[in-house]
Amino acid sequence: MFYNSINNKLDIKKFLDIFFSSIPKNKTLFFPFKFIKIKKNKIFFLKKLNYSNFAFEISKIFIDNIDDENLFNIITNSYKNFNHNEVLKIKNISNNNYYLDLNKGPTLTFKDIAMIPLGKLLNLFSKKIDKNFLIFCATSGDTGSSANNSFKNFEKIKNFTFYPFNMISNIQKKQMTTINKKNIYNISILGNFDVSQFLIKKIFENIKNNKKNFLISVNSINWFRIIMQVVYYCYCSLKEYTYKKINFIIPSGNFGNALSAFIAKKLGFPIDKIITCTNDNFYLDNFIKNNCFSNLNIKKTISPSIDISIPSNLIRLVNFCKINNKNMNNINKNFFSDKIYNKYIINSIDYFYNKFNEIYDPHTITSLSSLFKTNNFNNNIVVSTSYPIKFIFSIKKFLPNIKINLNIKKLFFLKEKYKIFSQNFSIIINFIKKKCNV
Ligand SMILES: *Cc1c(COP(=O)(O)O)cnc(C)c1O
Repeated sequence: MFYNSINNKLDIKKFLDIFFSSIPKNKTLFFPFKFIKIKKNKIFFLKKLNYSNFAFEISKIFIDNIDDENLFNIITNSYKNFNHNEVLKIKNISNNNYYLDLNKGPTLTFKDIAMIPLGKLLNLFSKKIDKNFLIFCATSGDTGSSANNSFKNFEKIKNFTFYPFNMISNIQKKQMTTINKKNIYNISILGNFDVSQFLIKKIFENIKNNKKNFLISVNSINWFRIIMQVVYYCYCSLKEYTYKKINFIIPSGNFGNALSAFIAKKLGFPIDKIITCTNDNFYLDNFIKNNCFSNLNIKKTISPSIDISIPSNLIRLVNFCKINNKNMNNINKNFFSDKIYNKYIINSIDYFYNKFNEIYDPHTITSLSSLFKTNNFNNNIVVSTSYPIKFIFSIKKFLPNIKINLNIKKLFFLKEKYKIFSQNFSIIINFIKKKCNV
């Protein structure tokens, strides 16, 4: 497959080029501006495959220059340690509505589905390229725990995870800090998530690629992560497909997950609408409903992973439509959106507990309540992006009723490893340079 720069459609690249140019200071993003629809008989063939084989077939569409055997091994080994050997689980809610649990990975987030194969792919490259791979990741919780876990066994990858001190949940923190490995550094910043992100931008300006080190970004614009997310939308659309196309309702932050569903649709899978759900930070909702780029300040809510001002992947969709001379109508044909304010998030968690005796996390609840509000009560899949156990600080009163899995219980007996830093950049950069021999 070929990819075009979203700023210049004549700038054409293949997978490996964009994979290795994915550092944040390189401003341009890439996107395939042309999709070839998969033929009906191929879809029949795919429908019979198990998840790993399916993932291999789909990712091959996007990835060249990695030989089949390596790619296949990376994918199958990635999904071996998922809970009960299920990569995902689809449950029927009612009529033709379903609930998709993507959080079966070791750190209990959908991010594992892409981050684990990403770690293995980086490890493969790090053996061929004689350099250390340096990863800097800012997290409000889930990305950091998934990245630390995915990269922990690869000695040529050094991973620095920045998180806001005392502003992530205790369990998310323990998931990151109890990984006791030499190549994993947890950097706790006295400041909010934006400060962490700002510091990382400065680090990228300060440390350059050189003979010894190669900088890689694994945040939500990472194209390989998006590919591995496209896979589960393709897979689920076939699983529950009878004769009508299916809609996906997705809690959305940086728009990586929802964009992945759109790509799955472009490949010809039976998907109708992609419904994005946001909270009080509703830039995306304004954009999809009114075609307006609003300027909003971030509000803190109990669903921190979708507290995003401008979704970083949205520009990919916008430029795809522009360059293909399709206007907003095209976006409206494919996307719906909803916003659920913080107070309704809180009420909805109560409501679903009282009515169905189920506790949902404050992100998943946005898509679930959106489903119950809609008139289009058929053929929807509600996408769950996390588990409530990670957010007990905001839903404390349910604590006695929340299921705690064994892996989480174990965390409380392990030693934590992290370093607290003020916002003083020179101290941080000196620490990093010392650890990387830059
Ligand atoms: C990362 C994350 C999201 C947002 O996903 P995007 O791909 O950035 O839209 C939603 N919910 C949870 C729990 C997350 O961790």
